[in-house]
Amino acid sequence: MISLRNIEKFYQQGPDRFYVLRRINLEIKEGDFIAVMGPSGAGKSTLLHVLGMHDTSWTGEYQLFDHSIHRMDRKQRMEVYKKYFGFVFQSYHLLDDLTVAENLDVPLSYRNIKKTERQAIVADTLDRFQMVGKKDLFPSQLSGGQQQLVGVARAIIANPKVILADEPTGNLHSSQGIEIMEMFKKLNEAGATIVMVTHSETNASYAHKIVRIVDGWIEGDPRG
Ligand code: ADP
Ligand code: ADP
Repeated sequence: MISLRNIEKFYQQGPDRFYVLRRINLEIKEGDFIAVMGPSGAGKSTLLHVLGMHDTSWTGEYQLFDHSIHRMDRKQRMEVYKKYFGFVFQSYHLLDDLTVAENLDVPLSYRNIKKTERQAIVADTLDRFQMVGKKDLFPSQLSGGQQQLVGVARAIIANPKVILADEPTGNLHSSQGIEIMEMFKKLNEAGATIVMVTHSETNASYAHKIVRIVDGWIEGDPRG
């Protein structure tokens, strides 16, 4: 489904290049549930942003189904993103001038779904996340944990083929975190592919596969 070949990314620091991803090779199969783990600064979020089309400055080959992402421009990548992905950002990235309900409608608006049906899906999702009473609030009126829940709800609301989640439960109480992981488990069983960056062993225990990143390398890969 997804194949990464020799993905590299650097940041320029004066005359020097500081590599955050080095020769990343990764195969992700449809239905995988992968936890990406490793120390802070290892490149986990960067890898997720490359996968999710939010980072476009890298080299290598990225194949998603029959799409050669490395040959696409920014606009084409955004179309692919809208079609296949749901993304839970570590810092939520909710749209500040939209209400909770309006934020949840954004991914649905990318799909060919009638307005009344979209409203029903938003209502149902608010209910599942126990946020019906918050639907008309703006992100700034929510706690960090509530914003994170909206971020998770937005990522899954349109039933994406691939869910990319960056520390999706970092600001939640442990019981809420478990509920989110149980939701991910059900979505995965229903066919969604999940790639989740996490430091939590509890979260990682839901994954079928752990990918460890250290210093921009996938651990276990030959470093020659
Ligand atoms: P563009 O403006 O089209 O992004 P650039 O001049 O920025 O082109 O980059 C030229 C090539 O170098 C491209 O293949 C791009 O993917 C790659 N590249 C740019 N920035 C980085 C980076 N930070 N790490 C790795 N490769 C990069
Ligand atoms: P992780 O998610 O594993 O904690 P990140 O992918 O966020 O790691 O970051 C990898 C490395 O890239 C870190 O050393 C970080 O400081 C560096 N980095 C991230 N963003 C930038 C940036 N905009 N400019 C320079 N360095 C950056």
